[in-house]
Amino acid sequence: MVLSESLIRATPEVSAQSLAANLEAVCGIGPRWHGTPAEEQTIELMSERLRAVCDQVELEEFPYAHYTPQAASLQIARPLQRSFQCVGVQYSGAGLAAGELVYAGQGNQEDFQALGQSGAPLRERIVLMRTNRPYQAGRYAQAGGAAGIVVISDSPFGTIRQMTSQMGYEPGEDLAAFGLPIPGVIVSREDGELLLSLLSAGPVEGRIEHRGIVEIRRSHNVVGYQWGKEGQRVLIGAHYDTQYGLDGAWDNGSGCAALLEIARVCAGSAAKRTRVFCAFGGEEIGLFGSTAFIRHRAGELAGLLAYFNLDSTSGDVPYTHDLQTTERLAGLARELVTAHTDWRITTFRNFNLLDHEQDAAEFVKLGVEAFWAHEEGNAFFHTVYDRLDTVDAAKLARATRVALLPFHYLAHAEVVPF
Ligand SMILES: [Zn+2]
Repeated sequence: MVLSESLIRATPEVSAQSLAANLEAVCGIGPRWHGTPAEEQTIELMSERLRAVCDQVELEEFPYAHYTPQAASLQIARPLQRSFQCVGVQYSGAGLAAGELVYAGQGNQEDFQALGQSGAPLRERIVLMRTNRPYQAGRYAQAGGAAGIVVISDSPFGTIRQMTSQMGYEPGEDLAAFGLPIPGVIVSREDGELLLSLLSAGPVEGRIEHRGIVEIRRSHNVVGYQWGKEGQRVLIGAHYDTQYGLDGAWDNGSGCAALLEIARVCAGSAAKRTRVFCAFGGEEIGLFGSTAFIRHRAGELAGLLAYFNLDSTSGDVPYTHDLQTTERLAGLARELVTAHTDWRITTFRNFNLLDHEQDAAEFVKLGVEAFWAHEEGNAFFHTVYDRLDTVDAAKLARATRVALLPFHYLAHAEVVPF
């Protein structure tokens, strides 16, 4: 692929200091769970900072299913009596479920197929799984007739990961019915191991309860524009919300900080194409902001050159570098990242439509080219340990450049190289 060296050299430098200031401002607000005053403050902060560097900034309203956790419990009655600490699988069914526990491994389709072949019934059972994707695994359990699910969190130190039971929604879907119809709870890794050890010795009778309130409310995406000389657009986005009660420095304070810094350093130049900067709401609970954003613009997709996702951009605990793109963008992305950054790609993948789990998902589904460079393997994700002291600004600067480079290239290129 022949790329313009002068255009690559013209990529502006990002500042670690400025990224650190952005990150502190965002994380300083505290947990940014939707429907809270902190969410409002975050929208205000992102708007204010984008207004300083964009030609125009608007708030885009979207509907979402608001979730308030109320109660979650898990007890076993056989082979011994015991209660476990747990949290609810967000938006799972409200109510009780009782029955024998059955283990479904990682909760993948193959795990359920293997269970089916082994003759183990799911009907009226409570399915136990180790998964970070209850929104997928829960559907397989429900389809098999399970009464409820127990998810084992693989996070360390007794933490329990917060997770939702649905990602994205279909056009016209009733948001009041958002989520998994059967109840679900999440337990720590340690408690999960105890349950598995009991289960490997004989039948375990369990009972779970989940209660939560789901209401339809409205939230906002913050959308900033730097106008280009012609009609085409390149879009970059980061979700500003966090999981329930969590600081979310890596997920996604780091992406918000990167978004603001990229908008700042791009502001100095006139580009051929319009650059759009979007802080999405409602990602953690089900991709509400990005889904609404792309559906509102369904008629303009031909003019949208690519979407760059900034999510879980940089933390400072053990991680690997995962790059995902659409097929057409792969060559450009790999060449720019490999030859012009010191961010080493550990895994490269084309987006998989089944992994409907971050803000690029609906873009990919609708045929928009997309790019997501992120860190994988952060054991603290969606736990209380995802906090400011686990993000390193120098490393965040390196990761920010990885997204800026192709974003800047596509905004300015005379000829689109794919
Ligand atoms: Zn995220």
